[in-house]
Amino acid sequence: MRKTLYLKFVLAYFIFAVFAFIAVTMFVPSMTREQLVREKAESLYAEATLISENYASGLYTSEISLEEVKTQLDSLAVYLNSVIRIINPSGRLVLDTDNPINVEDAVIIENFDPTITKGSYYTVDKFFGQYQNNVLSVFAPITSDYKVKGYVVINHEMSAIETSCNNILNISYITLVITILLSVIILIFFTEMVYAPLTKITYATEQYASGNMHYEFQVDSDDEMGYLAACLNYMASEIARGEDDQKKFVANVSHDFRSPLTSIHGYLEAMLDGTIPPELHEKYLNIVLNETERLTKLTNSLLTLNNLNTKGMLLDKTDFDINQVIRRVAATFEGSCRQKNIAIEVILTGEKMYVNADKGKIEQVLYNLTDNAIKFSHQNSVIKIETTEKKNKLFISVKDAGIGIPKEDQKLIWDRFYKSDLSRGKDKKGTGLGLSIVKEIINSHDEHINVISTEGAGSEFIFSLPQSSINEEEDDPV
Ligand code: ADP
Repeated sequence: MRKTLYLKFVLAYFIFAVFAFIAVTMFVPSMTREQLVREKAESLYAEATLISENYASGLYTSEISLEEVKTQLDSLAVYLNSVIRIINPSGRLVLDTDNPINVEDAVIIENFDPTITKGSYYTVDKFFGQYQNNVLSVFAPITSDYKVKGYVVINHEMSAIETSCNNILNISYITLVITILLSVIILIFFTEMVYAPLTKITYATEQYASGNMHYEFQVDSDDEMGYLAACLNYMASEIARGEDDQKKFVANVSHDFRSPLTSIHGYLEAMLDGTIPPELHEKYLNIVLNETERLTKLTNSLLTLNNLNTKGMLLDKTDFDINQVIRRVAATFEGSCRQKNIAIEVILTGEKMYVNADKGKIEQVLYNLTDNAIKFSHQNSVIKIETTEKKNKLFISVKDAGIGIPKEDQKLIWDRFYKSDLSRGKDKKGTGLGLSIVKEIINSHDEHINVISTEGAGSEFIFSLPQSSINEEEDDPV
């Protein structure tokens, strides 16, 4: 593809050069020659008419002598570089600036016929056989008493016109050669600005097509080519990043599935071959049960994340009372709170507070945040779930006085499968997917979630939701 594009352009260049050459050599000479002949004929005809009116007609009315006219016309003929003749309609030569006056021996121009011009006022021929080569002849009639008495004929050698024609043509040929040479600049520009970057881009796309998404290249121009190259580079780096993420994701998933499966397999095998005595079966079956719960949780989280991504986050937004949802979620955790002697304190704005969001998904957000708060809280502590109104937003905070999150981990907790080292001891069942689900849900609502945490002191997760207009209607006194 690369070679043909360049060849095509070079071919186009040569076609241009050949056609320009043909056009200039074929049409320009004849057009220039015609134009020069016409111009010369026009100026000579004007002279001939002047001679006819000023001198020749006087000659026929005997107002002026033949010698006098000859003297005048001789010098004019030299000036015009032509031969001036006065000829009778019968063809008899009255006066000829090329020859002296000879009254006795009259010269007759055989077959003299002024209508030979056929409606025009000039001809290009051998002038009734008087010349070896073609001459330009203009005819101006001499009239007296409404009769044509004779003709003023000016003959001009064509070789003189040819010389000026050739001079003009030489200039055209030089211009043509300069134009063709200068257009090589376009070829150079094309090579530098289009062909060379395109070669780089094509090579890069070949690399990408063969799977080398990490290939990097640079086109240093800020035109469309540069932009295309930058876009391609960006696209490839994004795909490469996506591939890396996917590899990491699969590695994480496999790892998280393998460890519970290995322990389940190990315990069951040990129970079957008698390594674990029957009286300890219950203890180990409980561990196996725990591991299966972990696997179920992991599978459910993966399915939730997958649904969030594939559906492009189709939200089923409704106006609902968030206070009721918060209370219900808090109640769900009564059992686990009792085990750790944790109290959940719920501080809500108003009896009812309507928000506009996807109820099911927000419930999941609250569930994940409260679950984390309990998991990472110390025994006998308090978890606060609080709502605050600001402008048209409602801010919901889930705050614990637990282990906290190290500063360097705070950005990473939103990543899939991320679990801080600090939390591993506290939470063996964790999947590292809970907060990425939370973030996806909140972002899809075009809202924000933040964490404020101090290691060893506790964490607070705050997210916003848009308030519903139902709140204003309820506030309005009826
Ligand atoms: P997991 O299911 O493992 O809890 P999450 O995505 O919900 O996964 O959380 C990721 C990590 O963020 C946790 O492993 C923990 O290190 C940290 N984390 C989340 N919530 C809290 C919290 N309330 N207190 C301390 N650390 C937290």
